Amino acid sequence: MKFNRRAFLGTTVGALAAPMIVRAAGHGGKPRVVVVGGGAGGATAARYIAKDSAGEIDVTLIEPTRAYYTCFFSNLYIGGFRDMDSLGHSYGNLAATYGINVLHDWATGVDRDAKTVMTAGGYNLPYDRLILSPGIDFVDGAVAGWDVSAANAMPHAYKAGSQTELLRAQIDAMPQGGVFAMVAPPNPYRCPPGPYERVSMVAHRLKETNPTAKILIADPKESFSKQGLFEEGWNNHYAGMIERIGPDFGGADVEVDPVAMTVSIDGDVNNVDVCNVIPAMKAGRIAEIAGVTDGNWAPVNAADLSSRMDENVHVLGDAAAQGDMPKSGFSANSQAKVCANAVRGALTGSTVFPARFANTCWSLIETNDGVKVGATYEATEEKIAKVDGFVSATGESAAVREATYQESVGWYDGITADMFS
Ligand code: FAD
Repeated sequence: MKFNRRAFLGTTVGALAAPMIVRAAGHGGKPRVVVVGGGAGGATAARYIAKDSAGEIDVTLIEPTRAYYTCFFSNLYIGGFRDMDSLGHSYGNLAATYGINVLHDWATGVDRDAKTVMTAGGYNLPYDRLILSPGIDFVDGAVAGWDVSAANAMPHAYKAGSQTELLRAQIDAMPQGGVFAMVAPPNPYRCPPGPYERVSMVAHRLKETNPTAKILIADPKESFSKQGLFEEGWNNHYAGMIERIGPDFGGADVEVDPVAMTVSIDGDVNNVDVCNVIPAMKAGRIAEIAGVTDGNWAPVNAADLSSRMDENVHVLGDAAAQGDMPKSGFSANSQAKVCANAVRGALTGSTVFPARFANTCWSLIETNDGVKVGATYEATEEKIAKVDGFVSATGESAAVREATYQESVGWYDGITADMFS
């Protein structure tokens, strides 16, 4: 049966009546790449393979949502610096411009022997190379008293969209002088500075609307990304508002009650008005189903992001255990381009360039007070290894900080175009 792009575009799971088997033969002999997950890593990989192979490779992108809302800059939505629409991106260009088969569906299974991907809508898609970029899921039982069924009462807002809107609405509804609590995650997790940029953006919002409110962070980590910069900024802009309880004072011993709206830290019960629970993370579930994880993350070879368990499967972005790169959208995009080049080379014989990676994570602390940390990386036998890095300095001038923030705005436009345009 021919794999008809029109049947895939606009397909919804509910609309499919019967499973469809798509066979590798009879498809013009083109090699097939299936990409699972249309986020930072998956959209970039699909786009680069389709764009650079100029029709020589058949690319299918499986992604359940019709609009991808970026986690990057979602904290700025909470702070009131962006609206939600500005974070949404659709898949129309990937289909129309590059001929990618965009299937709005869930991948539910992978048969690595048969080299097929099963979907909730009943498709069974053959691949020569499979690329998984499913992002993260949460570790069950990571925070006592919380599971995903409590995500309305105590949102994680660590997958952007309705969760982010819910968290902001809850912050806006806080009583004067109320308490916002955050349960911060242990390493490794998506976006190391993300929780602390979020605290900054919550503080910014509360300073305007609810200046006597307090922010309480229970943190299982000894230290965190850009800590000196955040703490300097919190002292400068939000003095007396933010209290962080690290592991020395019980920050790793936390239990929440989403009905009573309490957070117990080392046995001390705190009544809170909003509680943002960011649990421990692991690779998106489909990576586990595919059998390419070590239980939590998917170990990969640095040169091409191929799984250490199957050379025909590649894992990108947050789901991958790759070495030194932080789990960020910038990293996922950088890894996707290396992977796309390698996959194209393997399937068509095109030139494969040595793997080089880069990342920068910007954070906004207060209006025009932007900071950043970044590095370049190379592939070694063992891992993606850091080559050199940089970080903003404490005490920088307002002009430098404003320029750093403006740089991040330009980055957002550039990188989302590199994924979706
Ligand atoms: P994602 O972008 O999450 O994409 C995964 C996709 O896979 C999703 O669209 C999902 O629907 C899909 N999917 C999952 N399972 C399946 C399945 N079974 N079948 C089909 N599709 C599936 N990064 C930065 O670089 N800069 C920042 O400033 C920044 N800020 C952040 C702030 C916050 C608050 C958060 C939470 C994250 C931030 N990040 C930032 C991190 C960044 O969002 C992630 O690292 C990045 O999105 C990872 O890309 P990914 O492709 O691995 O996963």
